[in-house]
Amino acid sequence: MSRILEESPNAQINKSILQRYIDLPVSENIVLATYVWIDGTGQDLRCKDRTLDFIPSGPKDLPIWNFDGSSTGQANGTNSDTYLHPVAIFKDPFTRGNNILVMCDTYKYDGTPTETNHRKTCLEAMNKCTAQEPWFGIEQEYTLLEFNGHPLGWPKNGFPGPQGPYFCGVGANKVFARDIVIAHYKACLYAGIKIAGTNAEAMPAQWEYQVGPCSGISIGDHLWMSRFLLHRISEEFGIVVTFDPKPVPGNWNGSGAHINVSTLKMRSDGGIKEIENAIQKLSNCHDRHIRAYDPKQGKDNERRLTGLNETSSINDFSYGIANRNSSIRIPRSVSDDGKGYFEDRRPSSNSDPYSVSEAIIRTICLDE
Ligand code: ADP
Ligand code: MN
Ligand code: MN
Ligand code: MN
Repeated sequence: MSRILEESPNAQINKSILQRYIDLPVSENIVLATYVWIDGTGQDLRCKDRTLDFIPSGPKDLPIWNFDGSSTGQANGTNSDTYLHPVAIFKDPFTRGNNILVMCDTYKYDGTPTETNHRKTCLEAMNKCTAQEPWFGIEQEYTLLEFNGHPLGWPKNGFPGPQGPYFCGVGANKVFARDIVIAHYKACLYAGIKIAGTNAEAMPAQWEYQVGPCSGISIGDHLWMSRFLLHRISEEFGIVVTFDPKPVPGNWNGSGAHINVSTLKMRSDGGIKEIENAIQKLSNCHDRHIRAYDPKQGKDNERRLTGLNETSSINDFSYGIANRNSSIRIPRSVSDDGKGYFEDRRPSSNSDPYSVSEAIIRTICLDE
C-alpha cells in the first residue's frame, strides 16, 4: 500500500463539470472567503473556507478565525486552538464574483505570534521607516515536478541535455507546462497581486516570475499569496511545485528569490551613493542575513550558494555591477543612471519574504 501513484488523481478529473456549479447564482452579499496561512514548516501554505454575509471593505472587517494548530505543526494537541488574523484581501480567481482570498498571520492562544509568524516583527520594522519609502521586487524561481516527484518532462532514467537552450526558451523540447505559467500570471493579475513578469529558467521545468515593486510589508503579503495561487493552479493540473533551492544536485541551477531593493533616496538623483552605503552596511552582517534568507537558517542555501551556477559562495560577501556571481548586484542600468535599486541574490526560493525584507531594512534603514 505504500506504493506512490504515478499520476495525480486531480489530472483525471473532468474540470468542465465544475463550471456548472461555479456558474450557479448566489445572493450578492454572500461571500466565500478562503483564509490562507503559513504553517509550522514556515514554507507550506494551508487554507480553509468560510461564508460571510457581507462584503468586507478591508481585512479589519473580517472575523478572526481559528484552526487546529496541532495538525499544522503550530500547537500541541492538548491546547491546539491557533488564531488567524486577516491582514490582506485579494480577489478569488477560482470562484470569482465577490469571493476573496484572505492572507492571514497566526497567533497562539496567549496572543503571541506562532514561531513561523515572521510578519509581526517585519511590520514593526517597516512601520519605523515609512519615511524612507522602501520598495521591494522579488524574483521567485521554482521547479515543476511530476506527481511522483520527478522533474517534469525529464527522462525517466538519465538527464536532459545540458543547460543553455532552456532559459527564456520556446518550443516543446525547451520548456514544459507553460499553461501553468500563463494561468498563474492571469490569476495573479485578476487577484490584484503585483506580478511584474515571468520567464523560463536555466534548468528544464524551472521557471521564474517577479512580484513588485511593492512598498513595505505588502511585498510579503503579495509574494505569499502568489505562491498560494501557484500551488493551487498546479494542483488542478496534477503537477507539483517545489520551491526547494536545489531540487537537482550537481551542475543544474538552483532556485533563488532574488530581492531588489530601493529607498526614496536611492531612487532620487545621485541615489547610487545611498546604494553604496547600503551595500557597505550589508557587508558587515553577511552571516545574520544568511540566517534570515532560508527557513533552515542557512542550511538550505548551503546546497545552492556554491559559487557555481550563477551564485556566490555562502561563505563570502561580494558585490559588483552586472555581476551574477556576487551576493549583491548593481544592475548596469542603475550604474549608468546613477540611481535606482540593488539586487540581493542570496535569498533562497523557499525564503520567507517577511524575514528577508525585515533583515534588509533593519540593516540598511534602521542601522540595527
Ligand atoms: P534580473 O535581471 O535579475 O533577472 P528581473 O527583471 O527578473 O531582474 O527582476 C527585477 C525586479 O526588480 C522586478 O521584480 C521589479 O519589480 C524590481 N524592481 C524594479 N525597480 C525597482 C525598484 N526601484 N525598487 C525595488 N525593486 C525594483
Ligand atoms: Mn529575473
Ligand atoms: Mn532568474
Ligand atoms: Mn535576478
